[in-house]
Amino acid sequence: MGEWYFVEFSKKRAELVARLKVRGVSEKVLRAMTNVPRHLFVPSVHMSSAYVDTPLNIGHGQTISAPHMVAIMCDLLDLQEGHKVLEVGAGSGYNAAVMAELIGNTGIVYSTERIPELVGSSKNNIKAAGYRNIEVFLSDGSIGLPEHAPYDRICVTASAPSIPQPLVQQLKTGGRMVIPVGDMFQSLYLVTRDSDGTVVTKEWGGVVFVPLIGKHGFHFEQKPYR
Ligand code: SAM
Repeated sequence: MGEWYFVEFSKKRAELVARLKVRGVSEKVLRAMTNVPRHLFVPSVHMSSAYVDTPLNIGHGQTISAPHMVAIMCDLLDLQEGHKVLEVGAGSGYNAAVMAELIGNTGIVYSTERIPELVGSSKNNIKAAGYRNIEVFLSDGSIGLPEHAPYDRICVTASAPSIPQPLVQQLKTGGRMVIPVGDMFQSLYLVTRDSDGTVVTKEWGGVVFVPLIGKHGFHFEQKPYR
């Protein structure tokens, strides 16, 4: 891709970030999103729409989440330098890249994905964008990723029927998790494990995500594109 595309994508990305700023996204998340080339995480047919604030089809009935949704989840998580993060639902790898920017080179994102082709394409996208602090696993993230637990933060990017207990158990004391819950009507929840070990769950508001499919997720095969 030539210089013209680079300039054009950078300009569109700056315009998107400016719109997110008006919506109250924090400076640190805006900075992270300024650094992540979203056009490298979408299929080439959607490249020209990469900086429109909308989910896009990434194949296999799945989507890359809308930028405002990524920003909201990252702000709720309050990611810090050095954090160890679990993502459930790597999809395109974009959300993992934004989180990787926020936690820096001393942190790590472990991301799980249940569709083998998306494991392959997310790894390629992450490599093309130059991130070394992300590892993608082919696994059922509804059971978490016990081999690297406990986590400072957990970000679930597919909607669960209820909050999976293995994920709560894999949160460190002082840890935070964001997770959409519901089927036709979904809400985003922020789950925190306080310093005394108490788990507190707060509802943030209505959202639309593809379903979490797995042992602690839904058991049906998903509809094509939501
Ligand atoms: N974070 C993604 C991104 O930035 O492109 C968006 C992901 S998409 C909204 C949700 C993803 O969750 C899909 O790729 C889907 O295959 C995956 N998924 C659904 N159930 C899963 C499970 N049990 N374990 C891991 N991934 C799952």
